Amino acid sequence: MVSLTTLKRLAGEHGTPLFVVDHAELRRNYAMFKKHLPRVQAYYAVKANSNPEIVRTLFKAGASFDVASLPELRTVCENIKNLPAKKRQQWIWDKIIYANPIKANETLAELDHYNPLVTYDNAEEIRKIKKFAPNAGLALRLKVANTGAMVELSSKFGAAPGEAVDLILAADKVGLTVEGLSFHVGSQTTNFENYVQAINLAANIFKEAKERGYKKMNVLDIGGGFPAPYDDSVKPFAELAYTINRELDRLFPKDIQILAEPGRFMVATAGIGVSRIIGKAVRDGKLCYYIDDGVYHTFSGVIFDHCHYHLKAFKKGPTQICSVFGPTCDALDVVSMAEQLPANLALGDLLYSENIGAYSHASSTYFNGFPPAEIVHINR
Ligand SMILES: *Cc1c(COP(=O)(O)O)cnc(C)c1O
Repeated sequence: MVSLTTLKRLAGEHGTPLFVVDHAELRRNYAMFKKHLPRVQAYYAVKANSNPEIVRTLFKAGASFDVASLPELRTVCENIKNLPAKKRQQWIWDKIIYANPIKANETLAELDHYNPLVTYDNAEEIRKIKKFAPNAGLALRLKVANTGAMVELSSKFGAAPGEAVDLILAADKVGLTVEGLSFHVGSQTTNFENYVQAINLAANIFKEAKERGYKKMNVLDIGGGFPAPYDDSVKPFAELAYTINRELDRLFPKDIQILAEPGRFMVATAGIGVSRIIGKAVRDGKLCYYIDDGVYHTFSGVIFDHCHYHLKAFKKGPTQICSVFGPTCDALDVVSMAEQLPANLALGDLLYSENIGAYSHASSTYFNGFPPAEIVHINR
């Protein structure tokens, strides 16, 4: 954790709101992922936080990347340098997967120049890929249980288990190659059974595909969902990794390449928000603090990510339950209705929020004329 002295100094130098990225923590998270899942290559899901400096640090640490739009693809290509001299197709598959199952025709046409690895989950997409990106390799995205995940994804994406092999054979029939399978168990998955079920389902689809004559699959992409330690209820990553390794080793031979797409896990704990109190009022007997960052900005995860962030004060004092509101004129701009904060905080005092690196600054807006928080990088 970055020291409070450092946060205070940075807020003094740069003003607020501030979004501090701790690159040492990014490296620690990547190292922890690799240590506990040695068989799995991590493709950092850029949508969690697409800041180019984050991409650079994770690339240097050894990460590959999951992109889901052309701008994300460009961000990665511009920030990963000094690649080993390999054929284009090899490095792009080693370093980038385009993991959005639905792609516009124009996007596919542009992607085709890279001979990319892309996901798909329906028959219409096969026709589009065949026509606009015939040089792509395919991974079929499966629909899997998202039980207990903080953010559910299975209602929007994924082929049902019963249609999976038909979709593999349909792609094969038009001359495309299905390299393997992918899934996503839902973001911030604390129910580790989701991974067990999904890996077992994937193993069954591999088997069924083989039985029906399709033998070219050699990639399993176990997606994202790895939980950030937001509170003590999240069991240690080592425990999840143990479960995943056990299932992978039991069900997938060593020559099957295993990928994952961790987003939140890599960046959540590497981001700290620093904001300033700009207003104070008592409404219906409750103390309300107004700060210069809110849900249209760094706290966007309160709305989009179903995530609750705690605010802490630098100053000590007797606390009470307070409301904390963002700076815009919209009543939706509520950071928290129940934060335990000192009652004696004054205008100009600073607050900070830890573990706010994922799905936060990434969806900041300019609503009401307030720009996103300035980003400061430390320990690069
Ligand atoms: C969002 C997303 C991820 C990252 O998910 P996390 O829960 O942040 O790890 C990975 N893969 C795909 C396809 C996604 O849409």
